[in-house]
Amino acid sequence: MTDTIKYLLPEERIPRAWYNIAADLPAPPPPLHPGTGQPIGPADLSAIFPMALIAQEVSAEREIEIPDPVREVYKLWRPAPLYRARRLEKALDTPARIFYKYEGVSPSGSHKPNTAVAQAFYNKEAGITKLSTETGAGQWGSSLAFAGQLFGIEVKVYMVKVSFNQKPYRRALMETYGATCIASPSTETNSGRAILDMDPDSPGSLGIAISEAVEVAATNPDTNYALGSVLNHVLIHQSVIGIEAIEQMEMAGHWPDVVIGCAGGGSNFAGIAFPFIGKRLREGKSVRVIAAEPAACPSLTRGEYAYDFGDTGHLTPLVKMHTLGSTFIPPAFHAGGLRYHGMAPMVSHLKELGLIEAKAVRQLPCFDAGVTFARAEGIVPAPESTHAVRVAFDEALRCKAEGKAETILFNLSGHGHFDMQAYTDYFAGKLEDRDYDEAKLRQALDELPKVAA
Ligand SMILES: *Cc1c(COP(=O)(O)O)cnc(C)c1O
Repeated sequence: MTDTIKYLLPEERIPRAWYNIAADLPAPPPPLHPGTGQPIGPADLSAIFPMALIAQEVSAEREIEIPDPVREVYKLWRPAPLYRARRLEKALDTPARIFYKYEGVSPSGSHKPNTAVAQAFYNKEAGITKLSTETGAGQWGSSLAFAGQLFGIEVKVYMVKVSFNQKPYRRALMETYGATCIASPSTETNSGRAILDMDPDSPGSLGIAISEAVEVAATNPDTNYALGSVLNHVLIHQSVIGIEAIEQMEMAGHWPDVVIGCAGGGSNFAGIAFPFIGKRLREGKSVRVIAAEPAACPSLTRGEYAYDFGDTGHLTPLVKMHTLGSTFIPPAFHAGGLRYHGMAPMVSHLKELGLIEAKAVRQLPCFDAGVTFARAEGIVPAPESTHAVRVAFDEALRCKAEGKAETILFNLSGHGHFDMQAYTDYFAGKLEDRDYDEAKLRQALDELPKVAA
């Protein structure tokens, strides 16, 4: 028996359509206009998104065709491999079968180009010449920089200031792909200047960077905005992960008992999980699905399901989601990404419907699992991905305790080659697991917008 088995699909098996779970669910609560509190229409979004993406955002079609030029670019790394992790099974001494889908084979090293390429394509089709966006650790910024370059679109990235200073190589990657990278909060926008007036030393946050990028798109006709997670159209594009994985699990001859993804804004989790949940909803196949989130930014497990803004400057529509409040800034001790204050409305909707579970995990056990995984399988997981690895370990250890040979599938959303400082800090004992500041969380939640039920 070989130790590691790699399930590869031929190029022509790149999916021809994305999967839209909205077709299989009751409609979620609608996004509301931040000014009027009324449901927004397509026209409200047209200043910052192309019509094709707005149509996907509100679509109830189950299948959305993947344009040929997008499939052509996908060929650079898709179909992505699925592995049976036998060495890891041995290392954990578990009767469980562990499979992982590996999205780190993309040019930028994560699942994010799956949507970046699609978004660049639709914007190009709509005659847009510039895209503005935000990035935290830099994964999304480098993915959009790559995609923009392929379709001839200029990309400007507002990068959360702490990361800008801590991750010079991510910035260099964006610049290599031809993008401009600016530390946020910046003096270039009203939103950035407002923050700097209050706190000149602000470390920035995703919510602030989103405000800056949206402001630039809203005030420049040739510029649109692109978001790397959270929105329905992003989750739809990421469904290629799960669609491929279903076919690969069939090759392997196993249907997963448990599917796991890490969840920041929810896109790679939705990507691996929604196609499996769709099978469950339509064909009655059973599968447990778990979203793994950081205990330091626990929107699904400790946030409120409420209407909230997507950004700190309150420029975005109000969406109903699990949120820690748009003024929430994750604690500085947390190194592992997944720092967004809210969760994708569609993922939140599934949580409310009882279709998914969520588990919050602390960073030290996550890095510990990441190191064990790297030593068994060779791939160093991105800090974000270690959350999924940790929950997969916990499930495998539960199987061991219960003597059950269950099949576990998790998404390895990216590699950690640009995040080795976090591993260095972990080895040096500099990372800590502190208790979450309940008072600060309360404060951010108290500031949730008041929306009539
Ligand atoms: C951005 C990122 C995430 C978190 O984003 P989601 O939208 O929750 O998937 C997870 N893993 C990696 C490697 C990332 O780059």
